[in-house]
Amino acid sequence: MTILDPSLLDAAAFDPADGAVAYELDRSHVFHSWSAQGALKPFVMAGGLASTIWDYTGNRYLDFSSQLVNMNIGHQHPKVIDAIKAQADLLTMVAPAHANLARGQAAKRILAKAGRPFSKVFFTNGGADANENAMRMARLVTGRDKILSQYRSYHGNTGAAVVATGDWRRVPNEFSRGHVHFFGPFLYRSEFWATSPEQECERALHHLERVIVSEGQASIAAIILEGVPGTAGVLVPPPGYLAGVRDLADKYGILLIMDEVMSGFGRTGEWFAWQGFSAGEGDWTPDLITFAKGVNSGYVPAGGVVISESIANAFETQVFPGGLTYSGHPLAMASIVAALDTMDEEGIIDNARVIGTDHLAPGLAQLAAKHPMIGEVRGLGVFWALDLVDDPETRDPVSGAVIAQLKAELMSRGLFPFSADNRIHVVPPCVVTPDEVARALAIYDEAFTAVELG
Ligand code: PLP
Repeated sequence: MTILDPSLLDAAAFDPADGAVAYELDRSHVFHSWSAQGALKPFVMAGGLASTIWDYTGNRYLDFSSQLVNMNIGHQHPKVIDAIKAQADLLTMVAPAHANLARGQAAKRILAKAGRPFSKVFFTNGGADANENAMRMARLVTGRDKILSQYRSYHGNTGAAVVATGDWRRVPNEFSRGHVHFFGPFLYRSEFWATSPEQECERALHHLERVIVSEGQASIAAIILEGVPGTAGVLVPPPGYLAGVRDLADKYGILLIMDEVMSGFGRTGEWFAWQGFSAGEGDWTPDLITFAKGVNSGYVPAGGVVISESIANAFETQVFPGGLTYSGHPLAMASIVAALDTMDEEGIIDNARVIGTDHLAPGLAQLAAKHPMIGEVRGLGVFWALDLVDDPETRDPVSGAVIAQLKAELMSRGLFPFSADNRIHVVPPCVVTPDEVARALAIYDEAFTAVELG
């Protein structure tokens, strides 16, 4: 991997006074996502490099959040930054209707990772609008209305995408019609009274088929699923589940959309998470794939829909009634080309896989064996969750106060954590090194001990 210049890690280059101004401007003028604004005390980030970030007062942190689980290539990768600079010198904007070299190159590279039967890419500004457009395509192609999705899911913050979302973010936004939810497999907190992955898989598929039939198969355009549901808790599907969903979709003439916004481009140690489940399970493929985040690690906002040939063909003569001013923005496209080429050249996907199998899997298992608060460890690649419980028998989730305490203990030891509900998600960049993982594991261990000791 690229050798990074350690002098760039010199946090002293930043003036604490700038940090104070940044904080003050934020609290005075910036309105934040998903929050009551009053109690917010945002972290002020001054810089980052690879898996490390720092503030204005000289504190460094291992970024085990990857920000919003998107910094797959790490912070400030020089090759991606150079590509953005070069594109900025060349051309900073082109209307979506025109052809542009960087856009074509980005599409070609993404299609090479998706493989057959995919033939076209529709670019969006991020993940939610990718899902919006994939659902729109599915509705137009099938002539059907309903979209099925899991309760434990997140698909984005726009009209239909937020209603397809299964968690609490759906409820205040539920004005779009035609969305139906079902439970996916999650053995640790099984909805199906299952005691083995096989049982959980079989019963979750039975439940899904009952939902399809009860809703009326002829009314359902698509099932949308995250490759591995992420924000909901890194819910790795049991063997056979995704293949079973594909079979049900085929049986009832329903399209399958894989939402790879969080799970794609290296997070699970694969280009797309579904590819890891498809191999050895009939090599099935989805009909549409949505992506964002890891495709360029968010250096410039971008997302999109990878479209199978048969769906792309349906729009050869039929008008696709959708579009965005910044679809295929040149700066975003140049960053995608550079990010994907760099991930190939530097073996970054392989690194994520090996970090998962050889370092995080055994290290987190050891952590759980020592700390009874960790009810379950689940994940793969650089995509893990620690499900924290008050009591391993009842599996009652820990309170928000415990999570807040843990986060403070982790931060004070130099690890920037990611939390959701009663969980700590262990989601470093795909470029994380074995040494950084070892340091992080020691910090998690100390932080859990500190919380246990009260
Ligand atoms: N889909 C999934 C699986 C996500 O995790 C997210 C964001 O976290 C989205 C869609 C929405 O992406 P964006 O925030 O880029 O709109």
